[in-house]
Amino acid sequence: MFDELIGNSRVKAVLKRMLVADRLPGALLFTGEEGIGKKLFALEIARALNCRTPKDHEACGVCSSCVRIRKLNYPTRDDADEWTQIIWTDHPDVGLVVAPKRVLRVEQMRQIEKEANFRPFEGKARVFLIDEADKLNDASANALLKVLEEPPRTSYLILITARPAMLLPTILSRCQMIRFSPLAPAEIETHLVKNDIDKKTARLRARAAGGSMGRALSGDLVTFTSQRKAMLKVLNALVLSEDRAQLLRSAEQLNEAQYKDEFEERLDVLETLIRDAWMLSLGVDTSRIVNEDLSTELKEIAQKINPGRAGDWILQIEDLREQLIVNVNKKVTTDSLFLVMAGDVAAGKRPKVR
Ligand SMILES: [Zn+2]
Repeated sequence: MFDELIGNSRVKAVLKRMLVADRLPGALLFTGEEGIGKKLFALEIARALNCRTPKDHEACGVCSSCVRIRKLNYPTRDDADEWTQIIWTDHPDVGLVVAPKRVLRVEQMRQIEKEANFRPFEGKARVFLIDEADKLNDASANALLKVLEEPPRTSYLILITARPAMLLPTILSRCQMIRFSPLAPAEIETHLVKNDIDKKTARLRARAAGGSMGRALSGDLVTFTSQRKAMLKVLNALVLSEDRAQLLRSAEQLNEAQYKDEFEERLDVLETLIRDAWMLSLGVDTSRIVNEDLSTELKEIAQKINPGRAGDWILQIEDLREQLIVNVNKKVTTDSLFLVMAGDVAAGKRPKVR
């Protein structure tokens, strides 16, 4: 049934090997950005372990165990108590915890430890998903250490996070990390078309999604289109002129309150535009770029871009993104990012953002 999951064939191969060899670690850590299917893979593992009629160590997908494991019984929004407990699937051996507010709580970890020590009620293995594992604080992480160190033979803990760097070393060292990659636009597009989304919309959504199926399904195309327009202006200002006034205006706009939530999305969009222009400047075919529908504009930019500098810009954006994780003042860093990038155009140096 792994073939029903989208993308990440390397991850599939690794997990499959572990299942076949009966050497699945008791503590796994699934990392990779939001919306690329980490939770679905974790549930698929739970199914493979508990399936009544497995085929070649994979879940059949249709037996009563398989069907019930897919169904997570999330509490209603306002039922505060239930969010602090294990949220069970329809199968008594498979459940998950999420952070009720900002942190995963000690009592949730204690409950997992207690439940992990029971033998399976019905299936062959008990499987517990810990979603948003980056929300473990010192106390809840410590409450988890013992069971993570040596899970009972029939119990498996799968921690899931998009931000592994936030986890304590004591947690990281006890888990086997499985890294998920962003999905390719083509993988997303195929899936959307299969789900009755028309080809043109599917293509645009897939390209706007930045590798995340979640975003492809929920993303807002109007916002994306306007973001792209704004960021194309920035790239033009960078490449076609040394128009510092325009760059500062763009930096300002990026910092405006109304775009606060979009800040990182806009950086992502800018990055894909730079990458595309860079690839075109190296003679890559337009069918391989992300913003294929903007190929005319991007080709014009590509003629004037210096490939070495484009590479630097991407490093500088990635630097900025790292700084944002530690909450550096957005305004200051964005201004300096754009000025450094502009300086790059003017002087041909390779300054760093920091
Ligand atoms: Zn089955």
